[in-house]
Amino acid sequence: MNKKQKRTLARIVVALVLFAIIYPLPLEDWFGSPMGLYVEFALFLVPYLIAGYDVLLKAARNIGHGQIFDENFLMSVATIGAFALVLFPDSDPHMAEGAAVMLFYQVGELFQSYAVGKSRKSIADMMDIAPDYANVMREGELVQVDPYEVAVGDEIVVKPGERVPLDGVVLDGTSQLDTAALTGESVPRHVEAGAEVISGCVNMTGVLTVRVSKPFGESTVSRILELVENASEKKARTENFITRFARYYTPAVVIIAVLLAIVPPLFFGQSWSDWVQRGLIFLVVSCPCALVISVPLSFFGGIGGASRLGILVKGSNYLEALGDTETVVFDKTGTLTDGTFSVVAVHPEADVDPDLILSIAAHAEAYSDHPIALSVKEAYSGQIDRARIADVEEKGGHGVRATIDERVVLVGNDKLMAEGGVDYHDCSLTGTILHVSLGGEYIGHIVIADVVKEDAAQAIADLHAAGVKRTVMLTGDRKEVAAAVAEQLGIDEYRAQLLPQDKVSEVEKLLAEATGKGKLAFVGDGINDAPVLTRADIGIAMGAMGSDAAIEAADIVLMDDRPTNIAKAIHVARKTMRIVRQNIVFALAVKFLVLILAAVGVANMWLAVFADVGVAVLAILNAMRAMNVKKD
Ligand code: ADP
Ligand code: MG
Repeated sequence: MNKKQKRTLARIVVALVLFAIIYPLPLEDWFGSPMGLYVEFALFLVPYLIAGYDVLLKAARNIGHGQIFDENFLMSVATIGAFALVLFPDSDPHMAEGAAVMLFYQVGELFQSYAVGKSRKSIADMMDIAPDYANVMREGELVQVDPYEVAVGDEIVVKPGERVPLDGVVLDGTSQLDTAALTGESVPRHVEAGAEVISGCVNMTGVLTVRVSKPFGESTVSRILELVENASEKKARTENFITRFARYYTPAVVIIAVLLAIVPPLFFGQSWSDWVQRGLIFLVVSCPCALVISVPLSFFGGIGGASRLGILVKGSNYLEALGDTETVVFDKTGTLTDGTFSVVAVHPEADVDPDLILSIAAHAEAYSDHPIALSVKEAYSGQIDRARIADVEEKGGHGVRATIDERVVLVGNDKLMAEGGVDYHDCSLTGTILHVSLGGEYIGHIVIADVVKEDAAQAIADLHAAGVKRTVMLTGDRKEVAAAVAEQLGIDEYRAQLLPQDKVSEVEKLLAEATGKGKLAFVGDGINDAPVLTRADIGIAMGAMGSDAAIEAADIVLMDDRPTNIAKAIHVARKTMRIVRQNIVFALAVKFLVLILAAVGVANMWLAVFADVGVAVLAILNAMRAMNVKKD
């Protein structure tokens, strides 16, 4: 509890004690009638003002700002009205109720601010991955500096128990890293020299020397924090609906309340006190706070819960859409497969040295980050001499073209060869074929194979179990490879040999085929598919291995690249939406019921207070459930 909340609590306790003392006093017996009533009025005014003076002040101030129908106003009018019933000495006195309404209202407000603060804090804790400092060597001594001051290429030392402050590559040392805060993965990751480390992980066992590869502003932690902070700006339709609803609902109820208080006594000779009281009860119930607070809180909780699983959702609108996912479209390389190809075979043409093929391919791919390029460079044992390379051009979905030792080199698929007029031939092995031509002459091909991620088949099965109707794989790879992968994973459909732009048009076709409110999610690693991520209803990117462009373009980022998290995200989304709907239905049902009871004169103020504060508290408790997610 913060200071302000403690002060409010103290005021509530004092007011409550005073209230409890005044309530049983036999004032009528002591002072007679109507004097006893006036004394009671004056006495109840004390706890009322102690508990609610700030509400009255806020109401007055907001009216000054032109905001009339806010909850402070409603509470002020309702409670002042209850006290004003003293002017109708023929009716039962209602001062006690006026004071009580204010008291309970404040209890509810306190609870709300506590709950909101708590869930914000637990998300902040979960997101407490921001490092405070980095250890760098300065003049032979290890000093702590602000991570912002560390430059790319600097060496930092991460001791056991410390958080890795910036992304980098391990130069020295071995250790276990706890990545749970980032990926939800509870098994520690072993790292040694050469391994990449991302900021935000906790170093558990050994001292690591790390060469920084990204400035702090672009490091993983900064990117995650930015995503989470901006998430609340993208509101779900439901959230916007509630805001709009409150804007009409409140004035409408106030008008009905006024009519209720005035019309029957004025035109039908009914008792003023009775109908004014009904009008006041209307006002108390009319507060839409249960909805206005609990709906955003539920989404907030859902986003927080998802982030605990290593799923970053960039806004509640995406969480809402995810619940209605009907079609999931996947990219193959890097998304369903782990993107580390291994060289299966090198098939040289007659009289060509196999090493030449690998060396030429590795040089041509020197500047590419495509998973294929990375694997070729990995397989090549020699050094890459960048001075020999010129005019590099990477053609998405085709391969690369470069000039090496002043000779034109093409490395890529049959499309690239056909385009370059190279006389190539096919290979009988299943796998991705990397044809290589040197100076216009075909020198052979490299057969590479990619392994599917270990949880890819499970991911597809989980999606089908979650009610996803259609799974489709899009790939630029050969038909044979696509068919084999689709078969192995149980994917419904595939489209092969697509160029990056073809992927966009395929997704557009699929979007057109979707029924009603069924949504389409596209899952990719961002290499050649960032435009598709933007085009789909929901773009889901692989965060650990995906490119920055993908993380930027995507609506949802899977931090640990595990496709099984898609179905988990759908479950979190559906649970959140369920909670949101429960809250809306419950709050509105109780309120309408009490409104009707008030109109026919059955409800009293106490019931009205429950309908307002009680419902708000229950809705908030329900909303907080959205944050609880099962890790497995
Ligand atoms: P996917 O759709 O499976 O993610 P891409 O669209 O990235 O694959 O690539 C499709 C095809 O284009 C690859 O299978 C490969 O034949 C060729 N290709 C793309 N980039 C390269 C590259 N850098 N080097 C060689 N071939 C490439
Ligand atoms: Mg890809």
